[in-house]
Amino acid sequence: MHVRWLMFLQKFSFSIKHKPGSENRVADALSRKRNLLIQLQTEITVLECLKDLYSEDPDFGTIWQQCQNEQNNTEYGIRHGFLFNQNKLSIPVSSWRQQLVREAHGGSLSAHAGRENTLRALQERFFWPRLRRDVFRLVDSCHICQTYKGGAQNTGLYMPLPVPDSIWEDLSLDFVLGLPRTKRGNDSIMVVVDRFSKMAHFISCKKTANAMHIAHLFFNEIVRLHGLPRSLTSDRDVKFISHFWQELWKKLGTDIRLSSAYHPQTDVQTEVVNRTLGNMLRCLVQERPKQWEEALSIAEFAYNAMTNRSTGKPPFCIVYTKAPNIALNLTVLPKCKSAAASSFTDRYKEMLEEVRQQIIKANQRYKEAADTHRRQRLFNIGDLVMVRLRREPGTYSKLARRKIGPIPINAKINDNAYTVALPPDCNSSPTFNVADIRAYTPPDDAVIAISSSESSSSEVGED
Ligand SMILES: [Zn+2]
Repeated sequence: MHVRWLMFLQKFSFSIKHKPGSENRVADALSRKRNLLIQLQTEITVLECLKDLYSEDPDFGTIWQQCQNEQNNTEYGIRHGFLFNQNKLSIPVSSWRQQLVREAHGGSLSAHAGRENTLRALQERFFWPRLRRDVFRLVDSCHICQTYKGGAQNTGLYMPLPVPDSIWEDLSLDFVLGLPRTKRGNDSIMVVVDRFSKMAHFISCKKTANAMHIAHLFFNEIVRLHGLPRSLTSDRDVKFISHFWQELWKKLGTDIRLSSAYHPQTDVQTEVVNRTLGNMLRCLVQERPKQWEEALSIAEFAYNAMTNRSTGKPPFCIVYTKAPNIALNLTVLPKCKSAAASSFTDRYKEMLEEVRQQIIKANQRYKEAADTHRRQRLFNIGDLVMVRLRREPGTYSKLARRKIGPIPINAKINDNAYTVALPPDCNSSPTFNVADIRAYTPPDDAVIAISSSESSSSEVGED
């Protein structure tokens, strides 16, 4: 795309002191900034050519003629030589349609969002008939998505956490571990999600970082922007979290929520974020897995700009009241003033409540859907199972998850969690979520005698 950069230089009126060369070797960006003001204005003029296409266009030709003849049309209008459908720029039949879809899906700052999100990004700005079909076709056939996105598994019942009241108060903290080590020595991502707006920050870190380091990072990257949280949900072990918490919040009377300690199901939201993040990073770095750190900012932006399923809004809109610009916004000429956007700030409080209700509804919907699609898998004490250890280092694209077993179930915590008889050398908590427990099927049909509680409940008759 051809981008025209306009530069306005303002004359400067101050004296310049000479510095000896040794002191003045690097005229860095900051010192230059004082000398002159530069305004860069992006104007993507490439869509100009659309103006010539409307009159002959099979989709818009007739409408264009009508608008030219100033016939009343409530839906369409010509502004600055472009045909608009309400506030959406109409795109005539041309390769532009494909290009715009490609930009919205895999272009800068978008990170291969799925069908619905790509569609929404375009529908907000552009119009053409069969837009949905074009988007789905392109996204479904995206080679990068097909190559680098992974699947998910559905096990265990979904147990939603209490719904927060406002932005950046109730957070979840999680880690993606075992990434290829980058030049800066980082091999993990700290994932902090606001459970209300669903806004996320992805912060690269080291697996070896202790609770103090993490508290330091958290303070710099999260508290700096959002203040202090009221509660924190995490699936890290209790010892780590309480140490972290102490480091950070010694003086604050806050309510600690640990999904490992009090909620048998780890926070589904974080799992979803991590999966999305994994997919986005894989699409962004492709065959250069060591460059995940460079892709992290784009992934974060794309994630926060995407409409979230539970809230029905992009996290940015909830936190900032509007979505930040992406290239597609600058492409639309002229800038459309949206009435909805200007009154948005007035309705902020109203919107927060709306969002809250949305989350409650979504949790309910999600629970119903999840529970019907998930098989409820119950085990009995003594059943032989394989368990999956999650926190093993490995490459990110193939999270090397080690399984241990067959070992028997020792105790039932609830329908979602069981304790197993881990081998003594295994350095892990013996309590597992059902998502990580698989029934063990012995290799041949030899009957394995297991003392089971089944016998007491189901055997009727012969004593
Ligand atoms: Zn893609």
